Amino acid sequence: MSGENKAGDDKTHTDPAGKEKASSNFIKHIIEADLKTDKYGGRVVTRFPPEPNGYLHIGHAKSICLNFGIANQYQGTCHLRFDDTNPLKESIEYVDAIKEDVRWLGFDWTKHLYYTSDYFDRLYEYAVELIKRGKAYVDSLTPEEIRAFRGTLNEPGKESPYRNRTVEENLALFEKMAKGELEDGSCVLRAKIDMASSNIVMRDPTLYRIRRQDHHRTGNKWCIYPMYDYAHCLSDSLEKITHSICTLEFVNNRELYDWILDALEVYHPQQIEFARLNLSYTILSKRRLIQLVEEKHVSGWDDPRMPTLSGLRRRGYTAAAIRKFCDMIGVARRDSMVDISLLEHCLREELNVSAPRVMGVLHPLKIVIENYPEDQSEMVEAINNPEDESMGTREIPFSRVIYIERDDFMENPPKKFYRLGLGREVRLRYAYFITCHDVIKDESGEIIELRCTYDPETRGGNTPPDGRKVKATLHWVSKSHAINAEVRLYDHLFSVENPMQSSDFTEHLNPDSLVALCNCKLEPGLKNAMSGVHYQFERLGYFFPDPMDSSPGNPVFNRVATLRDTWAKIKKKM
Ligand code: ATP
Ligand code: MG
Repeated sequence: MSGENKAGDDKTHTDPAGKEKASSNFIKHIIEADLKTDKYGGRVVTRFPPEPNGYLHIGHAKSICLNFGIANQYQGTCHLRFDDTNPLKESIEYVDAIKEDVRWLGFDWTKHLYYTSDYFDRLYEYAVELIKRGKAYVDSLTPEEIRAFRGTLNEPGKESPYRNRTVEENLALFEKMAKGELEDGSCVLRAKIDMASSNIVMRDPTLYRIRRQDHHRTGNKWCIYPMYDYAHCLSDSLEKITHSICTLEFVNNRELYDWILDALEVYHPQQIEFARLNLSYTILSKRRLIQLVEEKHVSGWDDPRMPTLSGLRRRGYTAAAIRKFCDMIGVARRDSMVDISLLEHCLREELNVSAPRVMGVLHPLKIVIENYPEDQSEMVEAINNPEDESMGTREIPFSRVIYIERDDFMENPPKKFYRLGLGREVRLRYAYFITCHDVIKDESGEIIELRCTYDPETRGGNTPPDGRKVKATLHWVSKSHAINAEVRLYDHLFSVENPMQSSDFTEHLNPDSLVALCNCKLEPGLKNAMSGVHYQFERLGYFFPDPMDSSPGNPVFNRVATLRDTWAKIKKKM
């Protein structure tokens, strides 16, 4: 996180969207300076401009929180603009998913919903104007020739033989392009800038190409579509954006952004670049996420292992935790990799106080409590959240046959193993002390049952009158009362920090990223676990009923995160 603007080292403000404190950063400093000099008449207008060619991921969340957060903080507006200039890859499914995700994150574009395709007429007129001003021409080189003529970082490009067509000729050809009288790929409209520029972006960039492709909004009206660099600055200008915030890979494009607006002498927002989010053990690129979906490495865009907002939401991440994360990582001018454990940390911080605690056994081992009557059961009182007394208590059933976690027993425990062993006594949380007397195995030698006794004087899990202490407290459920449920455990999607380090990132997919346990035993109250409610399973982590695969009375749980806060450890070392 070197170079990041750490939360807390600067003044903070209240963000009306979520009543959250937002930390300051270099972009806000620029905006505050512009407000002081009245550069835009006191206006602050930002935009979030996704291309509807995939689902949003947590990198987009950084941009959303930044753009909408700024608008909220400075009483400005933030536009949601679909940058839909490439119909080949875009669809209405993505448009709808993006809207849902932005709303879920907690932001509201109010009436400011725009589509670049709404400006196709205006953009066409601007192109005609550029031609008239001698600043654009129709080039008939083949795409290969254009590439070859572009030159390299060390060598200047070569001018196209079509570069000096007359204005009339260009106007006529451009009109033919638009009317569908020319073949796809036969020519393009280019800006006439400088083929020797040290910035390759400025070597007569393409503004329009012919593409016979229906558009999800404009149908077959157009067969020419504008390029991103051309459409983007003009859309910003038409919407009177003040600060056009984008990621660092557009630094070199800023010169073109400015050139186009100056060439047309239109309203001119300022482009500001910041470092995109890179997150360890995952990938943040729609193109590559599409590959994971299409090649079925995951179950879909909303697979709970995906870094998409829909995946994180389904897994059980909350919008507040993601906003908190985006605030903590700050906004910097240099690229860096953020540890995914910071994201988990933000979720734990929230759920530790808000999620009710319950007991569930993931790998059940049966215990028969021999001195507990067969036909008896009783209710014991359990605390819902020790961090928050107001969450109260609940009653859970205890009886003669219970389950504990298989890992919590060892027949011949080593020194440091404090849990249950033969001849040992432990506490069952909220219930009783039990002592193990016998181990029952199947033919293969696997332990299938433990025989224990309980001490009636330890009811509630309390220390008995003789003051005897135990070293471990175990979670448990009563066999006859428990519900059976599927629980899904997740690990990082990739087994290396930076999967992009090799040419085929799918080589690094983690084969253990999903473990589905189908025979888990949970306390009976979880039968009606509601979607949208998080639980802490004591000692095991935070769990969330899967919104797709749960049905009434039959919850399927996702583990959102374990209880181990590796971020807190990393922070200590820093
Ligand atoms: P991807 O590389 O995932 O396809 P993109 O930049 O092509 O991303 P867009 O739909 O164009 O996707 O992105 C919309 C906005 O989100 C842009 O302003 C872009 O800069 C921003 N954005 C995309 N990825 C990140 C990221 N990892 N961190 C911060 N902002 C991002
Ligand atoms: Mg993009």
